[in-house]
Amino acid sequence: MYDIVIVGAGPAGLTAAIYARRASKSVLVLEAKSYGGQIVNTPDIENYPVAAHISGYDFATKIYEQATFLGAKVVFDKAVDIKMNGDEKEVVTVGGSYVCKAVILATGSENRKLGVDGEDELVGRGISYCATCDGAFYRKKTVAVVGGGNTALEDALYLSDIAEKVYLIHRRSSFRGEESTVNRLKERENVEFVLNSSVTKLSAGKRLESIEVTDTAGNTKTLDVNGLFVAVGRIPENQNFGKIVNLDEAGYIIAGEDCLTSAKGVFVAGDNRSKSVRQLVTATADGAVAATEAVKYINSL
Ligand code: NAP
Repeated sequence: MYDIVIVGAGPAGLTAAIYARRASKSVLVLEAKSYGGQIVNTPDIENYPVAAHISGYDFATKIYEQATFLGAKVVFDKAVDIKMNGDEKEVVTVGGSYVCKAVILATGSENRKLGVDGEDELVGRGISYCATCDGAFYRKKTVAVVGGGNTALEDALYLSDIAEKVYLIHRRSSFRGEESTVNRLKERENVEFVLNSSVTKLSAGKRLESIEVTDTAGNTKTLDVNGLFVAVGRIPENQNFGKIVNLDEAGYIIAGEDCLTSAKGVFVAGDNRSKSVRQLVTATADGAVAATEAVKYINSL
């Protein structure tokens, strides 16, 4: 029996582990993939207080080491269900199950697909969802990035240092991401903005060869590209927990700043929570709040 099982070893989950261990609670962190969550794909974090420049991988590794040093146990296994047995909860995983008093869901989110025919088949053959993982394969080549959020902007900036040419394709005329990054992109001679446009077709031989882009007026054009980096947002990974806690229309777990869900003893932290600002700093803040609330809950049992 653990005091707290935390589902997800991203910044939110690992920060929750740090807070819960410092409150002397026994902590198990379950992670389906590898620790760090989506931040490991960010080459350079510039907006986290104190760390003016740190890679996402280094950031994640430091929190992981801090949490495990403090005594949090991490098991790499996917949580698929929670059985609510009064004050006891059983977190069911692919490999087994774990009993605890409180659960913190810090599962984050996964890549949203573009939804164009052939996308799945071309992953690893020209289509990528991670510029920092795959960008180096496109040295001196032509790539396109799709999306208008911070991820797309930062990916385009990163790729413009590697690739010969970068198209940034966005379905609207203005970007959702930070203006300062847009301005930096405008200064890059090898970046071309393709606005009010969507990718409508992928053409490939063994690998992706070109994409068809259609603008809002219905005009199409073909861009010869070696790589297409899809950065059109993320989907919360709450699919397994929708019958335990209330989700909003977009699938985020409904909770306020106190990270309390609709289920007693189940808390949420990070990008899978309904909120307006999804940033590293808000994910770690959620971790602290969720753990503190979970400790309060356990102490009241
Ligand atoms: P996002 O902010 O949700 O942006 C997704 C973008 O993709 C939007 O521009 C959206 O267009 C577009 N889009 C969505 N579905 C599409 C589709 N089917 N076809 C074409 N375009 C589509 O996602 P994100 O950029 O991954 O960022 C997620 C969160 O992480 C954000 O809060 C972001 O600020 C944060 N983030 C922060 C940093 C940082 O602080 N350094 C870095 C990366 C991400 P519309 O604009 O038209 O809706």
